[in-house]
Amino acid sequence: MAAILASSWVHDEVRDFLSRPGRLFIGNRWVESTGGGRFWVKDPAAGENLIEVARANFEDVDRAVKAARKAYQGPWQRITPAERARLLWKLADLIEVHGQEFAEIESINTGKPISEALLADVPLTVEHFRYFAGWVTKLSGETLPVSQPGHYLAYTRREPIGIVGAIVPWNFPLMIASWKLAPALAAGNTVVIKPSELTPLSLLRLGDLMVEAGFPPGVVNIVPGYGMEAGRALIQHPEIGKISFTGSTRVGREILVESAARFTRVTLELGGKSPNIVLPDANFDEVVGGAMMGIFFNQGEVCCAGSRLFVPTSRFDAIVEKISGGAEAVHQGMGLDPATEMGPLISETHMHRVLEYIDSGRRQGASLLAGGERNRNAGLGYFVKPTVMVGTDSMQVAREEIFGPVLLALPYEDLDEVVRRANDTNYGLAAAVWTEDVRNGIRVAERLKAGTVWVNGYNLLDATSPWGGYKMSGVGREMGPYALQHYTEVKSIWVNLG
Ligand code: NAD
Repeated sequence: MAAILASSWVHDEVRDFLSRPGRLFIGNRWVESTGGGRFWVKDPAAGENLIEVARANFEDVDRAVKAARKAYQGPWQRITPAERARLLWKLADLIEVHGQEFAEIESINTGKPISEALLADVPLTVEHFRYFAGWVTKLSGETLPVSQPGHYLAYTRREPIGIVGAIVPWNFPLMIASWKLAPALAAGNTVVIKPSELTPLSLLRLGDLMVEAGFPPGVVNIVPGYGMEAGRALIQHPEIGKISFTGSTRVGREILVESAARFTRVTLELGGKSPNIVLPDANFDEVVGGAMMGIFFNQGEVCCAGSRLFVPTSRFDAIVEKISGGAEAVHQGMGLDPATEMGPLISETHMHRVLEYIDSGRRQGASLLAGGERNRNAGLGYFVKPTVMVGTDSMQVAREEIFGPVLLALPYEDLDEVVRRANDTNYGLAAAVWTEDVRNGIRVAERLKAGTVWVNGYNLLDATSPWGGYKMSGVGREMGPYALQHYTEVKSIWVNLG
């Protein structure tokens, strides 16, 4: 048994859950893979195996799609919008009731501090389901004042697409799943969802709650497995009408190419290299706190991580020195320890990737002010110290997404220059500006090519505020009414009354 299960921080419900093997969730039943395949899920803080989970293959995904089709054509069609809304509310309530359990599962599986799971992952998931529950009874069409000769009733309907294939990453497994499940179900679709092979656990727990909430069999099906197997099976399945993907830009591109074969609808939430811009008049303490939260939250494994910090030359040394001191003081440890401020990275492979990026920065002439190495004192798992480097825009560490706790500080002289440099990236997910002059902050925000811009804040997300990327950070938007457009087709109906 994994050592973590002996820890006094683990509640009994979680220990019970982790003592059972994980299965596939198809048609509201827990089943094994037809191929009998399984894979190990690890505890990244200890670097040891935690629990074995069934590994979905092509046939399993097909079974899940069939269950989703049966539900879509049957009970899910007959349920009224008000009942559908109540199911989503009920699910939100159940997640809230089991919030501590979900936070522990998420913390154990991803390594993130329990405080962050309790503050962000769980409540944002709950609110996401509630927000979209509210939309179910408000998804209406229009009557249209058409000008054709004759007498017509012309109107529109918002119809579900059908079966949605959802693929999610490992950094916020439950929360990002809710970004897809909530609007897809609100709009009347059924779903087959694939968690990351690294972090399937919270979604497996969610399956139990789908049954308890009263969702008919097949409305949501969960198929843990590998990208090259279960993921590809989903994106190639002819009955999937829409793929909603969050993950790397590399896989997003593959999905876009694959979708061309059948014109499958897609939304893609991809990577980032977000600029965090300090204007000369910014408040010192707010900037230091905001920059650290922007890059070190969730170990820097955040798509919108503020990985490029632009600081005016006149204030560069003071601000960067303070941030480096703060980085050195961050307490790293296993996620469940309440004292932990930063956990391990998700896997050994990812840890080596992040360390290699740090080395490439050094080789290309960046100076290292904090961290820069593995933290073996924090545990046997995949800990990398919070790292601060000073460099230039052309370095690999300035251009590529590292997806770890690595901040690159970049000095600048004037406003036009910093806006140009901030926009000089293939990505465009998020950005931030720090200033005491809000008018100036808004002017800069309007010039930045990013899906979200925060003025005097970072990592602010809400179900009502659209989320998505410019350029290679994505296609489409999640959250808010914008998300619903991506889960519906609009139909025009003409009735000749003449
Ligand atoms: P990834 O692309 O490796 O994997 C994401 C998911 O896709 C996983 O479930 C994986 O199994 C699956 N997958 C992998 N290859 C596949 C294939 N060929 N076909 C179908 N599915 C496949 O990404 P990751 O490492 O899990 O997550 C990190 C990335 O996600 C980062 O680039 C990050 O920026 C991005 N991300 C973006 C957002 C956003 O909202 N824009 C949010 C979180 C993470």
